[in-house]
Amino acid sequence: MSRHNSPVNAHIIQRIEIWPVDIPITDPFVVATGARVMAENLFIRVTLRDGTQGIGEAAPFPEVGGEDRPTCFAAATELAQAMIGQSAADYESLADRLHEQAPLQPAARCGLETAILDAYCRAQSIPLWRLWGTADIRERETDITIPICSPDRTLELARGWYARGFRLFKMKVGTDVELDIRRLHAVHDTLPDIGFIGDGNQGFSREDCLRFVSGVKQFGGRLVLLEQPLVRDDLEGLQAIRHLTGVPVAADESVRSLGDAREVVRL
Ligand SMILES: [Mg+2]
Repeated sequence: MSRHNSPVNAHIIQRIEIWPVDIPITDPFVVATGARVMAENLFIRVTLRDGTQGIGEAAPFPEVGGEDRPTCFAAATELAQAMIGQSAADYESLADRLHEQAPLQPAARCGLETAILDAYCRAQSIPLWRLWGTADIRERETDITIPICSPDRTLELARGWYARGFRLFKMKVGTDVELDIRRLHAVHDTLPDIGFIGDGNQGFSREDCLRFVSGVKQFGGRLVLLEQPLVRDDLEGLQAIRHLTGVPVAADESVRSLGDAREVVRL
């Protein structure tokens, strides 16, 4: 076996291509922090020396992560240069380098890291979950997101997804608590055997969140999860909501680092 084709060399990152992709959104995606009618993403393709290719996608969402496509593209292009000539097998130290170089560009880092991991796994003909050592591959029920819109439009969307088999609805809420309750109530009254996730995208005050939960409980709605109801820094508030309502609370925007995740788990 020549040195050039040894397994280690085979994983050397030889080329990285990045290109913009505009994905029109059928229903304008409205959450408490903003609206989106077009997903302005980037696709990233990594080619290893042995020809294996991996694909990643960077999905900057200015209203949530502070990155837009121009800054994401610039960051990804610069980061890509630092990855050329490195071995995809060193994916952990590469991720550290990406983080050191661009701590405030998580979408750019995510796209690149995904492409590198995808290429590395494809080169070894293993699925990503095997790389992590184990997997829990039980079937799970997924949900469908309903953006913030009028009760009529909410109902129309929910009916459409229900007909396609969805029973778990992730309702974007957090701008108008009374309207939120009415939207969920309308769906609850129309469609049997469904559950709700309430994703506030940091839009609720503690008081509004408690009003929202008791409003949903009053009409008999099944609220299985509250996602990021309060501003990201208010971890004590999230903890209080969890204990006061009995509804599990998921942190989303609150977690941007391993340290954030540890703190959330601790609380
Ligand atoms: Mg969320």
